[in-house]
Amino acid sequence: MTLKVKNLVGGYSQIPVLKGIDFSVDNGELVGLIGLNGAGKSTTINHIIGLLHAMKGSIEIDGITIDEDAQAYKSKIAYIPETPILYDELTLKEHIELTILAYNLDKDEAWKKANELLEIFRLQNKLDWFPANFSKGMKQKVMIVCAFITKAKLFIIDEPFLGLDPLATDDLLKLIDDVKKEGSAVLMSTHVLGTAQEYCDRFVMINHGELKASGTLEELRAQFNKQDASLSEI
Ligand code: ATP
Repeated sequence: MTLKVKNLVGGYSQIPVLKGIDFSVDNGELVGLIGLNGAGKSTTINHIIGLLHAMKGSIEIDGITIDEDAQAYKSKIAYIPETPILYDELTLKEHIELTILAYNLDKDEAWKKANELLEIFRLQNKLDWFPANFSKGMKQKVMIVCAFITKAKLFIIDEPFLGLDPLATDDLLKLIDDVKKEGSAVLMSTHVLGTAQEYCDRFVMINHGELKASGTLEELRAQFNKQDASLSEI
């Protein structure tokens, strides 16, 4: 099991948003984190990536918690936020170099992978560009390139499909499939339920900071007694 979230109570400045949620993501799995606006998906992700500290409960990645070894814990995660976070003063090339340093990657191997990804996302001629030169979708692609050179154990992808063009969406789904085959786990928060239904192995549904349900589409259908329903109808 790559990610284990146990009885997580958390939120912002002592206002609990999450009221004790439990779920896990196994190696080689893509799990969709779904729920209405304000349900608590981003709050859950903020806890997993270590931006928020649990008020109660625990989060383990590959058997370790952030309190046991923050550096080892964080190096297991590659995070692609909904709104790209890039350094204004660094070029695309420098973002890749920074990722190589931060994740202690083999430089030659990482650049080989980066060049493949830059070509896929048509960024190969933009290595000296600064974030100000990129559109929002292009910034998202930069974040995808940096994330997928890391060999992380857990990929966390927040609402990936809204800003990406259809070609890039397909390319991202292929990359997710590749890292799953290599044994990484992927947790993806999304409102694009059609795509989620097609690609996710399981779902974690959050509602008002509580776990409403989790399981495969078949399991969710059975649980809500809605045979043949699509994910958006459950
Ligand atoms: P969406 O689909 O709209 O992105 P979400 O499921 O990701 O929603 P969260 O952003 O986790 O939902 O919000 C859960 C609750 O936490 C909401 O009630 C929200 O108002 C509250 N919240 C979110 N961010 C903060 C913050 N920085 N400070 C205080 N409360 C917050």
